[in-house]
Amino acid sequence: MVAWRAAGLVRGFRAQRRTWLLGSSGWRACSSAREQRASGAPDLYDVVISGGGMVGTAMACALAYEQNLSGKRILLLEVGNKKTDEKLPELHSNRVSALTPGSAALLDRFGAWDHICNMRYKPFKRMQVWDECSDAMITFDKADLLEDMGFIVENDVILRALSMQLAAADRVHVLYRSRAVNYTWPVPDQLCNSKPWVQVELADGSKVETKLLIGADGPNSMVRQSANIQNVQWKYDQSAVVATLHLAEPTDNNVAWQRFLVTGPIAMLPLSDNLSSLVWSTSHQHASDLLSVDEETFVDAINSAFWSNENHSEFVATANSMFKRAFTYLMPSGMSVRQLPPSVARIDPESRAMFPLGLGHATKYVGSRVALIGDAAHRVHPLAGQGVNLGFGDVACLSQNLSEAAFNGKDLGSLEHLNAFETERQSHNLPIMAAIDLLKKLYTTKSTPVVLLRSLGLQATNVLAPVKEQIMAFVNK
Ligand SMILES: Cc1cc2nc3c(=O)[nH]c(=O)nc-3n(C[C@H](O)[C@H](O)[C@H](O)COP(=O)(O)OP(=O)(O)OC[C@H]3O[C@@H](n4cnc5c(N)ncnc54)[C@H](O)[C@@H]3O)c2cc1C
Repeated sequence: MVAWRAAGLVRGFRAQRRTWLLGSSGWRACSSAREQRASGAPDLYDVVISGGGMVGTAMACALAYEQNLSGKRILLLEVGNKKTDEKLPELHSNRVSALTPGSAALLDRFGAWDHICNMRYKPFKRMQVWDECSDAMITFDKADLLEDMGFIVENDVILRALSMQLAAADRVHVLYRSRAVNYTWPVPDQLCNSKPWVQVELADGSKVETKLLIGADGPNSMVRQSANIQNVQWKYDQSAVVATLHLAEPTDNNVAWQRFLVTGPIAMLPLSDNLSSLVWSTSHQHASDLLSVDEETFVDAINSAFWSNENHSEFVATANSMFKRAFTYLMPSGMSVRQLPPSVARIDPESRAMFPLGLGHATKYVGSRVALIGDAAHRVHPLAGQGVNLGFGDVACLSQNLSEAAFNGKDLGSLEHLNAFETERQSHNLPIMAAIDLLKKLYTTKSTPVVLLRSLGLQATNVLAPVKEQIMAFVNK
């Protein structure tokens, strides 16, 4: 009887504690604006992550499972609802990400990858990229075609897996439906008089303080703006149209396809044997036209975009095939076989949507008591499927950096070690961003000399296996 009661008390205490830690209503009740005014002092955290998208939630998970940070107080703030409260819909979402094996390894490190495998994902073994104007082509695959090149996963599935794993750790306070509305920064030369921490004000009027604020709040990051960090940015003259596609017939569907049209790249990413996801970057006007036409016309437009020879240049094609013949002679093993993309039969109704595209890069990723990760630090065109992969790279690097700082007894918000994170990530992210921007510009012209040069360059890269391996290794770092 006593044991039963004791167990009941422990269960009750655990439930109460969980409500404090995880349940937004319970926790908020004890730190509401009114009670805070009564006690006078805002709660102090070691780390506050502002923004619980894929990158911010991955950061929270990485810190939650880091042994050296086990005594630290960590808070994740997110405007949106908790994803795991709703059932995973039967229909695939139209927002997906191509994840590199490096990103999968990060998610695996803290147990989220297993949840993804138990929900939905599709590995792919090959990527085929080709030019509308010349049919010059490059393929990427692992030498024996047994290993996976990458994985297509719905963004909601990634977020759900991360949220489940975060809840299981029971170590990070998470406030959903909570918007940070103001950040107050410590003034360096008045440290003796003012508080040395960053103060975060929430929309309900409550305040928290933190030794380190991590901005994972997306491309329009309020953390970045409030910290006065400059952002180099421009809008592309393109929007991305997305949709869930039903293929004309089921196949292994293990190739990610991308064709560079002069209007922008169109990609078809495998979701299952008979489903793929469309990402079609094109002019804003064309994108809105594609959203307003009937489904049959839309499907015809997709098939035509993958198959039509309308912008084919005979001159470039001839030069290209001569170049190819010479390479076949010199490097017979270097040529890869061209595969034909599948035809699309129909789309999931309501799955069409469009997103304006742009580039952004924060000139600094860190400042005193602040670090930026994910799209808050860098936003890229989706043509290389790198956005969230770069963000997960930031997570791997910053969590490692903070773990070492904690192990060495350092202040987590100190620039001394945050600078090392910035140097490592900027030297990785900047070359990739520059390459993506160059590709975007290079492929939106029909000018014959440019088409000829880019086609020869693409074919040459295609036969140089070591160069392709270097590209894959760098992107996967
Ligand atoms: C069409 C398209 C296709 C793409 N395909 C790929 C792909 O194949 N592979 C790939 O790697 N990348 C891809 N990307 C890029 C990828 O989607 C982004 O890089 C990624 O979503 C960025 O994640 P994030 O968590 O940094 O930012 P976000 O997803 O923008 O998340 C920011 C979060 O912060 C929250 N937030 C904002 N302000 C506040 C506040 N004040 N208080 C509290 N919370 C706040 C928001 O609610 C949001 O949840 C694609 C992008 C597009 C547009």
